[in-house]
Parts: sequence; C-alpha cells; structure tokens
Amino acid sequence: MAISNNLIWSSSREATFNQCKRKYYYNYYAKWGGWSYKADPQTKKIYFLSKLSNLPIFVGSAVHDIIREQIQTISYGMESAATNKVEMDKAIETISTRIKTAEFCSKNREWEDNTKITAFADDYYNDGSSVKSGSVKTVNSWVKKATKCFVNFCESEICKGLVEKRYKMLVCDSNDYVAVDISGVPVYAIPDLVYLDDAGVTHIVDWKTGKQKYQDLVQTRFYSLYARNRWNPEELQIDLVYLDTPNIVSSKPTKEELDEAALLLKESFKQMEQLTKENNVALAEENFLFTADTSSCRDCNFREICPSIAITKTGAKNEVCISAEDALQSVVDATSKDTQPEKVLPVEDDTSNKPWRSLFESK
Ligand code: SF4
Repeated sequence: MAISNNLIWSSSREATFNQCKRKYYYNYYAKWGGWSYKADPQTKKIYFLSKLSNLPIFVGSAVHDIIREQIQTISYGMESAATNKVEMDKAIETISTRIKTAEFCSKNREWEDNTKITAFADDYYNDGSSVKSGSVKTVNSWVKKATKCFVNFCESEICKGLVEKRYKMLVCDSNDYVAVDISGVPVYAIPDLVYLDDAGVTHIVDWKTGKQKYQDLVQTRFYSLYARNRWNPEELQIDLVYLDTPNIVSSKPTKEELDEAALLLKESFKQMEQLTKENNVALAEENFLFTADTSSCRDCNFREICPSIAITKTGAKNEVCISAEDALQSVVDATSKDTQPEKVLPVEDDTSNKPWRSLFESK
C-alpha cells in the first residue's frame, strides 16, 4: 500500500519552513518516494541528501536512544544504569561504540554500498563546511560529551523519580506517532517522555544535548498545545532538560498563552497550505523561494542540487554563495521563462518575522 504524503504540522516542519522555503520543498515534497528502487535518480538523490547527518546530530540522537532504552528498562522494573554500576559501564560503552562506528563507517564511505549506513555531510561533500568528522580527537570529544549527557540524565531528579517513585509514564517511545487535531490543524509531536508525578502534574520532557535556543521556546508552547489536546491534563508542566550543563527549564503555560499559540499555529499551517494544491501536492518548485539568509546555505544538505548555490567539486574553498538579491532574482528569472508558474505567492522570508516570536518578545 502506498504511503500518502499528508500535510501534518510539526515544530521541525515549521522550523524548516521558516528557514528556507526551497529546503522545505526538497525535504517534504521532492524527496517523497525516493526510498523506492523504482524512483527516478533525481528523487533518489534528494532523498539521500535529506538523510545526510553530522556528528552533533548523530550524537544527539545516540544520547536520546540510550536514554529511551534505559527508561524502558526502568519501566519494566529492571536494573538500569541509574541504579547499577555494571549497567552504567555497559551503557557508556554502547554510546561510545555507536558514535565511533558511525564516524568510521561514514568516513570510509560505506554508505556508498549500504543505504543503512549513515552518511555525514562532511564526508559526502568533503568540503569541511560543517563540523569536521574526520579526526579521532573530535570523535573522542563528542563521545565525552555524550557520556556526560547520559550520566547527567541518570543523576537527574526526573530519573530518580522514575526509579524510586515509579511515576506513571504515558509516553517513552519515539515511535509514538499520534497526530492530534488542534483548531482544525493536524499536528504531530513526539515528546521524549510524558509522565504523571505523585502530585498529579503531567510532565512533558524534552532532552536537549545542545545549548538553549529560541526554537526551544517555540517547542514548549507547541508541546503544551499537543498535550492539552491529547491527554487533557489537569495540570501541565513542560521540562526542557539541558543535559550537558545540566539544568532544567520548566514552564506552565496559561490558557491564554495556549489559545494565542493555537491561533499562530493555525496561521503557520495556512502559510504551508498556500504552497500546495489539492491533496497536499506541492506547487511548482519555483514557488518555493530561496532563503534570504545565505549563511544557511553553507551547511545545507541540499547545496549540491540547489540552484541558489554553486559548488565546484575541486576543493573545499571553492564554494560560492550568491547574494540574497541574486537568489531572489533567480526565482524571478525562473518564473518568467516559457511557462507561467502556477502561483507565485508573496512569501515572507525575513526570518526575524516568525509569528511565534511575538509570543515571547511582547511579554
Ligand atoms: S542551499 Fe540555501 S537556498 Fe538552497 S535549499 Fe539550502 S538553504 Fe535553501
């Protein structure tokens, strides 16, 4: 049975939409079906590029994976790294092996023969434009960071509560894909952990391996909305857990804040819909504008195929970014050729004008 490409709002989709409409097009439309052996070469290529990773992303996901595995172990009432030194040593060894193996396999371009091997953008482009993945020192420092994050999780109050107080867990599985309807908008969220504490407060927990950033605040509102519509909790708290520091940023959004956020979510969804026809079929590629912030292009996964950037394969220093004006002009040029575009919309690409920003800066 063919999987249909539905338009479902998520915070990562919105982040890509705000960053660059063309990247959004590649990531949510042009790559679709590229996993099939029947797909045409260009679709396969776009799908492959969409899956390029890098060490920071891989490390973040390795930390999330090992924490999820530990939480599942705790939920079965078994010994975990939080309570048993042998289990702790085993878990740390597992993180180290996963990261070092991924780095080694990518550097040796094993993904050329095996689609299950993760390709790092640095190794694919070999242009040094994002974090270097080639040095053992760099890999070791990432392993150290991942270990620190994991140990901090095991020592956290949340983990202690799960072990000692047996908090009831509502979600602790990254496969918990349930879309909910929020003011007529289908929304996906996959919180890392949702649990009920002994005071009856429902906690939505998000593990963070990086530094605090603006997008995290957006997520808190979005997770709150999602939780309100999915579990209808009496009391809700969002816990952003920065594992590296470590510190926890907790918030309890008010009803008014959530209602305002629901309106903004609806507006965001409407903007996405405007770039589609019936059944979530994307408008022609030309309608998806290049970002005006060309610094995003330097480490964009799609820089090989995107017309806004010229890359020569002869060396790391030969990458050329064209200016935002030139990039926008190229859209005008493309849309003024033989055929008229289906619809060119006045898409606002000033990244400082995100609707969500008003939620945090006006208060
Ligand atoms: S290279 Fe730049 S303009 Fe092209 S898709 Fe990536 S971020 Fe957008």
